[in-house]
Amino acid sequence: MKNIPFFNYPALFEQRENEYLEVVHDVLKRGAYIMQSELFDFEIQLADHLSVKHAIGVADGTMALLISLKAAGVGAGDEVIVPSHTFVASAAAISHTGATPVLVECGQDHLIDSVSVQSAITEKTKAIMPVQLNGRVANMDPILAIAKKYGLLIVEDSCQALGAKFNNRYAGTFGVAGTFSFFPAKTLGCFGDGGGIITDDSEIADKVKLIRDHGRCPIDGKAKLYGFNGRLDNLHAAILGFKLKYYDEDIARRRSLALIYQECLEGLDTLLLPPAPNSDPRHFDVFQNYEIEAVNRDALRKFLEKNGVGTILQWGGYALHQFPDLGLNNDLPYTEAMTKKFMLLPMHPMLKDEDVLHICGLIEQFYENNC
Ligand SMILES: *Cc1c(COP(=O)(O)O)cnc(C)c1O
Repeated sequence: MKNIPFFNYPALFEQRENEYLEVVHDVLKRGAYIMQSELFDFEIQLADHLSVKHAIGVADGTMALLISLKAAGVGAGDEVIVPSHTFVASAAAISHTGATPVLVECGQDHLIDSVSVQSAITEKTKAIMPVQLNGRVANMDPILAIAKKYGLLIVEDSCQALGAKFNNRYAGTFGVAGTFSFFPAKTLGCFGDGGGIITDDSEIADKVKLIRDHGRCPIDGKAKLYGFNGRLDNLHAAILGFKLKYYDEDIARRRSLALIYQECLEGLDTLLLPPAPNSDPRHFDVFQNYEIEAVNRDALRKFLEKNGVGTILQWGGYALHQFPDLGLNNDLPYTEAMTKKFMLLPMHPMLKDEDVLHICGLIEQFYENNC
């Protein structure tokens, strides 16, 4: 039996083992641990890659969200609109600024729904946080129009969408700041936690740099405000700088695997697939995940599991409105129904074509026998 885990963590290292060891050895030998040249080099490299003025390394994606919101001036008394179909970290970051997360629906593409955004606006709304989930940017035209009409900030949770584009604009460049996560399973993953913030606004960039390093001014060392220990480790910056050189290659691989899924599974009316890689010229998707909706989902997952194929439910199968202890608004029927059908199939650059063909074969077999 073929064994295909959902994500192959050891393969992440084995992929380029000797090169990683060289990078690590070089950094450790020099004792270059915190805020050293590899961090600043990586920041320049990331900014170049995304054609933005500033990229700033931070401790993780959650810290990226929190620091971005604080730098943008979001705080107590404000409301921030965010889709319910996201990681709890998106709402936690909003809440830690003192603001209130207001949940909205996603659409068929599992991304923020602009109609729902429009109806969630109140006097207190300060910002919209689109979550560019699964490596795809939402249709930003109506979101930008709403933000303009009501004078709202946009702070993107683009943690899953490094390099994805809509209308030729990169994820993370639609508002005051965009955020990335370098968690191992993310498209640009390091060997632990890491994150980044991008912005074209030099004032925001300066503020972010203050907040990530205890509020200390990089020039005179004086604390200008209360910040965090929110820095990206130099060792991880070195690894990320090395990995970024292969990033476009890795994304091309993800897109070709998505195309195989699409071609094999598009005939099944028991599934809703994500938009195909070349189905809409406005979008360039990086396929952080391959999130489908499936009839008989739980039985399908069991069948795949029995046959050695790992799948997961994103966020453990919950949307944020389904956490009663957080006290968020919870009347979101579309997202509610979606969570009963959504699941993730394996998607990472270490997968082989035949792995994906094998998974598709099993799915076809399941529906032949069960529907
Ligand atoms: C990964 C992720 C984050 C942040 O994750 P960290 O683990 O803190 O790096 C935030 N939002 C979304 C949508 C994510 O997928």
